Amino acid sequence: MSAVNETLIRDVVAEVLGRLGKTGAPAAKPAAAPAPAPAATPSCNCGTTTASASVSAPSGGSISSGRGKYGVFPDANSACAAAHEAYLQLQKKGVAARAKVVEIVKTMADANAGEWGRIELEETKIGRLDHKIEKLKIIKLVPGVEWLRPDARSGDHGITLEEYTPFGVVGAITPSTHSIPTLSGNIVNIVAAGNSVVFNAHPSAAKCAALAVREYNKAIERETGIENLVTIIETPTMESFNSLCKHEAVRLLLVTGGPGVVKAAMQTGKRAICAGPGNPPVLVDHTACMTRAARAIITGAAYDNNLLCIGEKEVFALDRIADKLMSEMEKNGAVRLNAAQLDALTKAAFTFKPGHGGGCAEPSVNRDFIGKDPGVLAKAAGINLPAGTQLLFAETDANHPFVIEEQMMPFLPIVRVKSVEEGVERSKEAEHNYKHTAIIHSHDVEAMTLMGRALDTTLFIKNGPCMAGLGLGGEGYLSFSIATPTGEGITNPRTFTRVRRCVMVDNLRIY
Ligand code: NAD
Repeated sequence: MSAVNETLIRDVVAEVLGRLGKTGAPAAKPAAAPAPAPAATPSCNCGTTTASASVSAPSGGSISSGRGKYGVFPDANSACAAAHEAYLQLQKKGVAARAKVVEIVKTMADANAGEWGRIELEETKIGRLDHKIEKLKIIKLVPGVEWLRPDARSGDHGITLEEYTPFGVVGAITPSTHSIPTLSGNIVNIVAAGNSVVFNAHPSAAKCAALAVREYNKAIERETGIENLVTIIETPTMESFNSLCKHEAVRLLLVTGGPGVVKAAMQTGKRAICAGPGNPPVLVDHTACMTRAARAIITGAAYDNNLLCIGEKEVFALDRIADKLMSEMEKNGAVRLNAAQLDALTKAAFTFKPGHGGGCAEPSVNRDFIGKDPGVLAKAAGINLPAGTQLLFAETDANHPFVIEEQMMPFLPIVRVKSVEEGVERSKEAEHNYKHTAIIHSHDVEAMTLMGRALDTTLFIKNGPCMAGLGLGGEGYLSFSIATPTGEGITNPRTFTRVRRCVMVDNLRIY
C-alpha cells in the first residue's frame, strides 16, 4: 500500500470515529476521564446512562463530564463540564439549532404553564397561581436570535463587520420568586446568543427548576441532537454556587436575586451580570387621573402577591389628592387598614433587631409573609377580607418599615407629601439607589422629567402598572433578569455576547 493511501485511510478512519463520537456511540468516545465521583444514581428507566466522557477545556486541558439525567447533575463540576461539551456541539450546529432551542423553550413554557405554575407554587408556597401561569405564558415575549444583527461599516478602505458571538458556558443563579420563568427566559437569551448554561437555582425552588430543565433537555436532544445544553445542580447549595463560579468552563455569570448573591457574584473575580434587588416607589401628583392611577397601582402591587422586583412597593401621594387616590383604591377593590390594624400587621411582618448604635431597632422582613395571599396578612392585622381582595393598604410615614424594606407582600404603604419635589426626594430615599424601577402617575412632563433624572432607575414607568415596563401592556420586550447594579438593563441575547470585529482591507466595497 502506498504512503498516500495509508494516510488517506487513516484520515477516513479518524473522520468516521470522530463522527461516531458526536453521536455518543460509546466505542467512538475518546478515553474516558474519570468523572468527579458522581453520586450513585439509581435506575429510573428513563433511558439515560451515567457513563462519563471527556472533552477539551477552553484552556486546552481536559474537563471530565459525567452524564446527568437530561441536564440534572449531582454536582457543579459535572454540570459545568457537560454544558461545555454541549456548547461545542451547539457551535457546530449553528444558528438554526439556537433558533430551534428558542422555539422549543417558548412553546413548552406556554404549553406547560398550567402544570408548571402549579408545581412551582406548591414547592415555593409564595405568589398566585394565575400569575405563576401568566409568567410562563409570556416567555414568548423574550427576544431570540433575531436580536443579534451584526454592525457593519463600509468605506474607502473596505468593509468591517462586528458580530455578537458567544462566551461559551454561562453560570446562572435564579431566585425563589420566579424560578421556572427566570430559568426559561434566561435559556432563551443565553442560548440565542450561542452559549450553553448551568443553573444553581434557589434551594426553595430547585425541584421545579430541575423538572423544567429535564423536560427542556428531552425536547432539545430530540430536535437538535444536543445533550445537556442546559444543566442544573439538583441540590443547590452555597458550595455548589462557589464551585460553579470557580469552574474554568464558566466564562460569565448571570445572577438574579437580592443583595447577598449580587455581592457574592461580584467577589468571584468572574464577569457577573447582576439582576439585583429593587424597592420601586410610586409618585402620584395632582395632575394624574386618580381612577387610572388607583387601578394601575393595584394591578402592579397585587401581581403574584407583590413578588416582582419591579412591583410597586410604596406610594408617595400629594397631600391634595391622597384622599381621592385612597378612595379610588377602595372603590377598585383594595382594602384600607386603620392605624391599629397596620400596627398589628407590622409586628407580624417584620422582626426588629437591635440597631447599630442609633437607638432604633432595624426591621427585617419576616419570610413567612413574603408572597402570601392578602388573607394571611389580613389575619395578622385582625380583619376579615371580602372575597377576591387583591391588595391591602394603609397610610404610613416615610420611615415606616413597609416603605424602607423590600417587603414583597400584597400590602402598600401610602405616604403623603406636600410637593412633587418632596415626593421625588422621598422616592429616591426609599429606592436606596438600587437604580431598579420607579413609577409616576402624572400628566406633567416636568414632574416626570424631575423624577426620571433624580432616581436614575433602569425602568421608569409613566401612567401604568409596573409590568408595562416589561412589555405587558407597554411597548417593549420581556426579561425576568433586569441587570441593575452592573448596568446591562433588561437582559437580552446581546447581553450574553462578545463583540468581535472582522475586517476586509481595501476590498468588497462593491461600488
Ligand atoms: P435571594 O437573594 O434570597 O436568592 C437569589 C439566589 O441567590 C438564590 O438562588 C439563592 O440561593 C442565591 N443566594 C442568595 N444569597 C447568596 C449568597 N450569599 N451566595 C450565593 N448565592 C446566594 O432572593 P430571592 O428571595 O430568591 O428573590 C428575591 C430577590 O431577588 C429580591 O431582592 C428581588 O428584588 C430580586 N430579584 C431581582 C430581579 C431583577 O431582575 N433585578 C428579578 C427577580 C428577583
